[in-house]
Amino acid sequence: MRTLQVDLGERSYPIHIGSDLLSRAELFTPHIAGRQVAIVTNETVAPLYLEKLTQTLQGYSVLPVILPDGEAHKNWETLQLIFDALLGARHDRRTTVIALGGGVIGDMAGFAAACYQRGVDFIQVPTTLLSQVDSSVGGKTGINHPLGKNMVGAFYQPKAVIIDTDSLRTLPARELSAGLAEVIKYGLICDEPFLPWLAEKMPALRSLDASALTEAIERSCAAKARVVGVDERESGLRAILNLGHTFGHAIETQMGYGVWLHGEAVSAGTVMALEMSCRLGRISTDERDAAIRLLRNAGLPVVPPADMTPEHFLQHMAVDKKVLDGQLRLVLLHRIGEAVVTAEYPRDVLQATLAADYR
Ligand code: NAD
Ligand code: MG
Repeated sequence: MRTLQVDLGERSYPIHIGSDLLSRAELFTPHIAGRQVAIVTNETVAPLYLEKLTQTLQGYSVLPVILPDGEAHKNWETLQLIFDALLGARHDRRTTVIALGGGVIGDMAGFAAACYQRGVDFIQVPTTLLSQVDSSVGGKTGINHPLGKNMVGAFYQPKAVIIDTDSLRTLPARELSAGLAEVIKYGLICDEPFLPWLAEKMPALRSLDASALTEAIERSCAAKARVVGVDERESGLRAILNLGHTFGHAIETQMGYGVWLHGEAVSAGTVMALEMSCRLGRISTDERDAAIRLLRNAGLPVVPPADMTPEHFLQHMAVDKKVLDGQLRLVLLHRIGEAVVTAEYPRDVLQATLAADYR
């Protein structure tokens, strides 16, 4: 097992990464204050891992909260089901919410924990690669609104993140690839040497080689922890984590939540950010193409949806959270391994990027 620390003063917490951690009670108990525990999960993950985690937590009063599966359910109605369950079982302020599932469950359970009785403890047990390397770390929680993704939420840090790499064995290959989009992102924005390592290990990662996965997860979490440690509430640096996300969110919104996976949209969005960085002379065409190859070899789409026009993109990007005072800020590469957030770019370069032929 490897352990990292997210340094946020009194809100600091450990990230444990390793095999069979779901059965290790001693990783959970230090973070559970009372006798009540609510495990928030979904219809897909519950049959796979709920019983195992419940066994590990015997001695506590465990309330399972099983939600419908999917990004389309990351909304108020589903959030309400969590409160219904907690109140119905008379959970008090000392209860601990455990998120057992992917990013959708983590974001919703975390937001519920932030709100329930003005805040109860919560533990992230991410079971998708994307949630293990990204959404479970850093304390962003929330739900979607019909007019925009993740538009309602709170910063709320977990007490611990417990990553059982064995859970990836049941994950569909398409979901694994989606997670790899975020892994590759870390190399592009802040860890250049990670990229050749990833290129070499990509077959091992895709065939679930345990040591390659552990290393990739650890390195990704370390990058995220570093950025979040500097800028917890996204007043600056943290925005670099959104490389490819402004374009990607536009794709997700246009196509309808859940049609493109988050990581797939981020991949195509990253290609657009690479293209724009290249057009601005920040990276070479060779560097752009190497990064695109890496995404493609991870099993990811590298072409935005054919029927999406520049107008579609601009319309969705206008409600992006990175719009401040009417200025659309974009995450671009200053060079490979270093990202910048900027509103200073020629408008026509953005237009050309949106209109470019990616096939
Ligand atoms: P997800 O939670 O929808 O999980 C993907 C699918 O895999 C679901 O069907 C899920 O039930 C299933 N699944 C989960 N674990 C499994 C397992 N071990 N075996 C088999 N199936 C399993 O999607 P995701 O990609 O994990 O997360 C995407 C969400 O995360 C988006 O809503 C996105 O906005 C959010 N996100 C949040 C942050 C943040 O900082 N909070 C960062 C990135 C993404
Ligand atoms: Mg993301």
